[in-house]
Amino acid sequence: MDTTIDFRSDTVTQPTAAMRQAMAGAKVGDDVYGDDPCVNELELRAAKILGQEAGLFVTSGTQGNLLAILTHCQRGEEYIAGMRSHAYLEEAGGGAVLASVQPQPIENQADGTLDLEAVQAAIKPDDFHLAITKLFCLENTFLGTPLTEDYLQNACSLARKNGLNLHLDGARLFNAAVKTGVPAREIAGQFDSVSACLSKGLGSPIGSILAGSTQFIAKARRWRKMLGGGTRQAGILAAAGIYALDHHIDRLAVDHELAQMLANELEQIQEINVEPAALRTNMVFISVPPSAIDQLSGFMRARGIILTVEGNPIRLVTHLNVDEKAITKTVHQFKEFFLQHQAA
Ligand SMILES: *Cc1c(COP(=O)(O)O)cnc(C)c1O
Repeated sequence: MDTTIDFRSDTVTQPTAAMRQAMAGAKVGDDVYGDDPCVNELELRAAKILGQEAGLFVTSGTQGNLLAILTHCQRGEEYIAGMRSHAYLEEAGGGAVLASVQPQPIENQADGTLDLEAVQAAIKPDDFHLAITKLFCLENTFLGTPLTEDYLQNACSLARKNGLNLHLDGARLFNAAVKTGVPAREIAGQFDSVSACLSKGLGSPIGSILAGSTQFIAKARRWRKMLGGGTRQAGILAAAGIYALDHHIDRLAVDHELAQMLANELEQIQEINVEPAALRTNMVFISVPPSAIDQLSGFMRARGIILTVEGNPIRLVTHLNVDEKAITKTVHQFKEFFLQHQAA
């Protein structure tokens, strides 16, 4: 039994025995022919949960966001997204490269949101010198923080007023829904499209769902085929997704409690500064003295705790394979580290 505690991301989870069983027993067909019963069921059910007409099983969140850009926009148009958002920063420039759609990044505010006046100001007038602003992308949760209902409403009305399409990068939408108590279908139903990861907190090995109107998904399906994302007996993977929707949404509350517990306990350590979070889901951001940065990750790894330490802040993410014992052990090892670090 692997007892490593891995805080790098909620993408590192191992499929549970029950999920593997669901995968092994899955009835499958050729999804490019539309024949795979598990994929069809997953797409239908996920669309419903996301408050949309239709769904598309995609290989990753990155593919979901790229398909949204390809489907909403034409060559020469542009999409607005946060400067630190995944859809702008961390998808290898796919919108620009593969869709010929230019990003219009907007500085994220301290709380991660985009100032809606800045968004309004970035929407370009109808002038042939300028790209055509077509799409507004939001991310929820952003760095572990859910968007508030008020903010969502204002962002949506801004998009409507300006004739923009609205896409939600909901990689961790279910964390937001569980934390705020607002159903995912209410949050995501306000958008023209949404992509949500099955492979993060929900614990599937692979996959995301892109959801939107029937017409939108029909177009996105063609783009997915063009990108080489049409897959065959994908029901093996979709079965994991169905299992995750049934069994791994409500339990996200446990991840959130453990993250809060980790934050509370690390805060007691003098050398650690924990970034406050009004609505904490499954992430904790901490800062440590710069002199500790070099040794921290190696010290922890030698004790079976994996962290990404590239500088401050350091992100710790809780998930299906982190339990209360793991939190206790981790806090203990942080204390040990700083005892030794001081002595050195
Ligand atoms: C992880 C993530 C994605 C992309 O998901 P992949 O499946 O890793 O491609 C998109 N957006 C956000 C906010 C994410 O955290």
